[in-house]
Amino acid sequence: MNKINQMWNGSGLSLRAGLLFHDLYTRDGLVQVDAIFLDELRASNASLYEHLLTARANSAALTPKQHSELIIELAPYLEDFIAGLFGIEKELLELQSRHSELAPLYAVKRRFIQRKALTGYTVEKASAIDGFAIGAELEAFMQEPITERSFANHVSRWLESEPEHTKPLQLASLYAAWATLSPQGKAKHGRGVLFKVPHKLDYHHLVSVQPLITDGLVRLELSSDHWRHREGFQLTDPGTDLTGALDQAHYCIKCHNQGKDSCSTGLKE
Ligand code: SF4
Repeated sequence: MNKINQMWNGSGLSLRAGLLFHDLYTRDGLVQVDAIFLDELRASNASLYEHLLTARANSAALTPKQHSELIIELAPYLEDFIAGLFGIEKELLELQSRHSELAPLYAVKRRFIQRKALTGYTVEKASAIDGFAIGAELEAFMQEPITERSFANHVSRWLESEPEHTKPLQLASLYAAWATLSPQGKAKHGRGVLFKVPHKLDYHHLVSVQPLITDGLVRLELSSDHWRHREGFQLTDPGTDLTGALDQAHYCIKCHNQGKDSCSTGLKE
C-alpha cells in the first residue's frame, strides 16, 4: 500500500476528506467513499438518495430500464462527486464546456438528419442531388464554409424558429441527404461523425476484404483507399478524438434503449 501512496503522491493528486489513495484499493476505504457520496447525495437530492437506497436493498425489483434510468439520474451527482474527490473540478468544467460546444452535432444528427432529412431518400435519389451547388447556396445563408460544426450550429439555430428559416432548412436537408448517402457526399464527409447512419453489420464480414488468388493461394485485400503505410508495429490509426468518442457514446444510448447493449448482457443466440 505504501507503494500505491508513493505512486499517487508523486502524481501531485490528493484526495479530500482525509482519504488516502490506498483507501481506494481496500473494501473499508471504498465503504468510506460510498458513505461520503451518499451524504452528499442526500444533501442535494433527498428523493434520489431514497430511491438509490431502495434500489440497493432490492435491485431485483428494478426492470432493466428502471435500472438504467436510475444510473442516468445519478450520473451528474457522481460526476461532481468524483471531481470533488480528486480535486479536478476545474478540469471537469473545462471538459463539460467542450461537451456543450459539441452538443449541437449530436442533436442535429439525431433530430434533423436521421429523423427528417433522410426520410424517403435512397442512395440513388440522394446521388441525383447536386450537393456542391446546394452547398454553395447553403454557405451563402451561413456566411461561412460548411463544416460539421458550422452546419450543426446553424441548423440548430434555424430549427428554433423554423417558419422564418424554411429555405435554408430545405437546403440543409437536401445537403444532408446528399452528404450522408451519395458516394460524392461520403467522399467529402465520410470521415466525420455528422453525416452518418447506423448500418447493419455482417458479423462474418466485419472487414470488407476482397479475396485475390495469387500463386494458388487466396490472399485477402482491402480496397486501396484503406491502405495505410506501416512502419514497425505502431498502430496506423490515430484513433478518435472527443467528437468521435461522444458520437459513439450517443449511439450507445440508442443501442441501450433498443435492448441491444450486448456489451452489458453478452451476445444472445
Ligand atoms: S453494444 Fe454496448 S458499446 Fe456497443 S453500441 Fe451498444 S451500448 Fe454501445
